[in-house]
Amino acid sequence: MSHVFAVFALTAGLLAAGLAQSVSPAPAAQLPERQSAWLALTPAERQAVFAFGDDIKAFLNVARQNQLAVAEGIRRARAHGFAEWKPGEHLAPGARFYVNNRGRALLLGIQGREGGAQGFRIVGAHADSPWLELKANPLVAKQDFVVLHVLTHGGLKHYQWVNRPLALTGHIDRADGTRVEVSIGLAPGDPVFVIPDVAPHVDRPFRNRTYTEVISTEEMLPVAASEPLASGGVMAQALAQLFARYHVGPADFTSAELILTPNTPPADAGLDRALIAAYGQDDRLLSFVALRALLDTEGAPDKTALVYWTNNEEVGSVNDTGADSQFLDTVLTGLLSADLGARFTPLALRQAKDRTSVISADCNTGINPNFPQVQEPDNAARLGEGVALKRYGHGFDANSEMIARFRRMFEAERIPWQTSTYVEGIGGGGTIGLFFSAQNMNVIDLGVPLLSMHSPYELSSKVDDWAMYRTMKAFLGGGAE
Ligand SMILES: [Zn+2]
Repeated sequence: MSHVFAVFALTAGLLAAGLAQSVSPAPAAQLPERQSAWLALTPAERQAVFAFGDDIKAFLNVARQNQLAVAEGIRRARAHGFAEWKPGEHLAPGARFYVNNRGRALLLGIQGREGGAQGFRIVGAHADSPWLELKANPLVAKQDFVVLHVLTHGGLKHYQWVNRPLALTGHIDRADGTRVEVSIGLAPGDPVFVIPDVAPHVDRPFRNRTYTEVISTEEMLPVAASEPLASGGVMAQALAQLFARYHVGPADFTSAELILTPNTPPADAGLDRALIAAYGQDDRLLSFVALRALLDTEGAPDKTALVYWTNNEEVGSVNDTGADSQFLDTVLTGLLSADLGARFTPLALRQAKDRTSVISADCNTGINPNFPQVQEPDNAARLGEGVALKRYGHGFDANSEMIARFRRMFEAERIPWQTSTYVEGIGGGGTIGLFFSAQNMNVIDLGVPLLSMHSPYELSSKVDDWAMYRTMKAFLGGGAE
C-alpha cells in the first residue's frame, strides 16, 4: 500500500464526516512510509514477477514497432483460442475474438455473459513508440555515401539516436498490388544502420548548440551504402542491393511504411535483474501486459472484455488506426447489434458506451536518480512502488467515484499502487484516454513509471509491470465495479 492510499482515506473520512466512520474509525496520526512493492511479495509471487518479465522481453524483442506488434499479438491470440471476427457476427459467451485494423492496430475480446448492453470493459494502450521513419524519397547521395532521409515519429531526443545500431522494418506496397515485408538489422548477421555523429576533434563550431538542438532531423541520416559500383557509383550499389533483397525500385518507397528502431535486444538491468531495459516500452509494454491479462482470462466474464491497441498515439492518435478513428465505434456497434439483433438502436449503443469502463494504460515518468529535481517527490511515481494512477489535473482525471472503485479493487487484490502528478509547468503527457471519455465512457488513466522514457532504451520495474498485469486481469474479469 502506498502512502497516498492513506491520504485519500483520511481525506474521504474528513469530508464525508459521519458517513465514513465505518471506513475511517480513527484519524491517522501520520502519513505511512512509502514502501517498495518488492518487499510485499511472497516467494511464489516473486517468481511470477520474474517469469512475467521474461515474457515481456520476449515480446518486445519481436515487436519493435506497431506492425510487428500486431502480427505477434495475433499469433499469440490465435495460440490462445482467439479467432478473427467480423463486426456483426454472433458471439457466444466466452467466445474469444480479434479484429485486425489494417495490420497497424488491433482489438481483441472475450464475449461476456451479459452481452454489451450493460457496457463493456476496455483496456486501451498504444502500439506505436517514438521512432524514425523513411521519407518518400529516402535515398540520397552525399559525399561518398548513400544515406537515408528520415522523419521523426513522436517526441524523441535526436542526440540519443546517433551512433547506435538501428534496424529497418515495415513493408513496401508495389504498384502491382504485391507487398514485401522488410526486415534488416534484427536477424543475426544482418547489417545495421548507423547515424554518424560529429567527432569531438572537429565539433568546436557546434558546442554552443542548445540541449534540444544538438542534432537536427536533417542531420540524422543513417548510412545505407558506401562501396561504389564501377557503373553508377554508390547509388547504383544501394539500388542493386535493394533490388537483390526485395525486388523493389526507388519509386516503391513512396508506397512504403518503413521504420527505423534500435536493434538492441531487451535485457535485465542491474545486478538484481529487477528492471527491464528495452526499446519501445512506452507503450508496447502495456499493450503486451493488457494482451496477457486477456489471454489469461478464463471462461466468460460478466461484461465483454476488450483490449484495444491503437496506433499513432505519439503523434496525436491521428489517422484510421489511431484512437481518434471510428474503428472502435464500428466494433462496438457490431458487437451490440449481434447481441441485440432487432432490438439494436443507436440509443442502445450510446447507453452501452455510457456504461463502459476503460483503463487507458500508458507509461509515465518515474523519479530518476540522476535528475530528481524535475519531479515533485510527494506526487511523483517511483519505480518499484506499483501501478501509477495518473492525476494530471487540468480536467483529465478520472472522476473520484471511479478512482474510489479502483482503490477498493487494489486493496481487495493486494495490488501495490501509487499516484502520479507532474510538476506544473515542467511535466506533462497525453494519453488515448480522452478519445474514450469523449464518447462518454468512464475512463481511468493508469501507467507504470519508466526511466529514460522515449529514449532508445527505457527502463521499467518488473514488479510494477506485474502489478499492472494483475490490475488489468482483475478489471477485465469484473473488478472495480
Ligand atoms: Zn505513451
